[in-house]
Amino acid sequence: MAHVIDGNALADELHARLAEEVRDLRSAGVRPGLATVLVGEDYPAQAYERRVRRLADELDCLYVSEQLPGDVELAEALATLGKLNADPRITGILVLRPLPPQVPEVDLYRLLDPAKDIEAVTPVNAGLLAQGRPRFIPSTPAACFHMLDAYLGASGRDLATCYDGVNLVLVGRSNNVGKPAVWLGLQRNATVISAHHYTHEAGRLGSFTRLADIVIVAVGVAGLITGDMVREGVIAIDVGINPIRDPDTGKVHLVGDLEFESVAAVAEAISPVPGGVGPITDIWLLHNTVRAAAMGAHVERPTHFGMAP
Ligand code: NAD
Repeated sequence: MAHVIDGNALADELHARLAEEVRDLRSAGVRPGLATVLVGEDYPAQAYERRVRRLADELDCLYVSEQLPGDVELAEALATLGKLNADPRITGILVLRPLPPQVPEVDLYRLLDPAKDIEAVTPVNAGLLAQGRPRFIPSTPAACFHMLDAYLGASGRDLATCYDGVNLVLVGRSNNVGKPAVWLGLQRNATVISAHHYTHEAGRLGSFTRLADIVIVAVGVAGLITGDMVREGVIAIDVGINPIRDPDTGKVHLVGDLEFESVAAVAEAISPVPGGVGPITDIWLLHNTVRAAAMGAHVERPTHFGMAP
């Protein structure tokens, strides 16, 4: 049975460091401010918004939530973003996804102030990440690699070389998870394969996931990757958050994109849902907000929690 990588424990460690970063910044007279923009009523996005709100409150960071209806017009969404860009109290902005078709994410990303773009989705910040000199490491891929680095280091591997040439298969190619994870994998010298919807449609998903030494799945399809689609000894990281409603009780529970039992039966290590990538992502988002605040105020900034990009 696989080792289960404990995202909550890793998040607790980072939380202590983040609290210290916030304290240092406050003593320099700077208060980090996070804003989120949520359009519509997607369950995982709403849950994510609630979690980061709680964390920001707990750390006494300013938090502003903009909630727009699912049928909002693009012009209004852009105006909301423009208002947050101009608000000097806001140091970091997160545009929650998914967005409805009339609000293309690239239109929002084009307007977003790169200095507040804590998810590195603007062209300049995405470009810096691609070139291995990120201003911000986006929170979800950062959380995936933080988990991997922590597990690989704890298992006795040398982090300076252990990714060299290994097959890293990413399933999902969104601008906020799958694509930035490609850059982080390449930066570590892994052999990166990016698989996505069309790989699945072509009937080839399994033939690629079976090549993986490490697989990161960020799709949003419950149990998409099963034990027969990975090879023995794989290290599997699950980003997916899929709400499942119990037909009898009406209660919702969350599952990932990995079919946990069958993948865990063959994997060396696996991350669970919930309690995996999610809690680390939340901390990283606030960390990036602190980093942005420090950069804006020209005071010493924390460095990606020590992660080599
Ligand atoms: P997205 O919808 O933007 O992208 C999904 C990707 O999956 C696309 O690239 C698509 O090509 C691919 N895909 C769709 N169906 C597929 C299939 N059958 N086979 C292979 N690939 C397929 O989603 P996203 O924003 O990248 O999020 C993905 C999942 O991760 C969602 O469940 C989301 O809720 C979750 N998520 C979790 C966190 C976290 O912190 N844990 C953060 C962000 C997103």
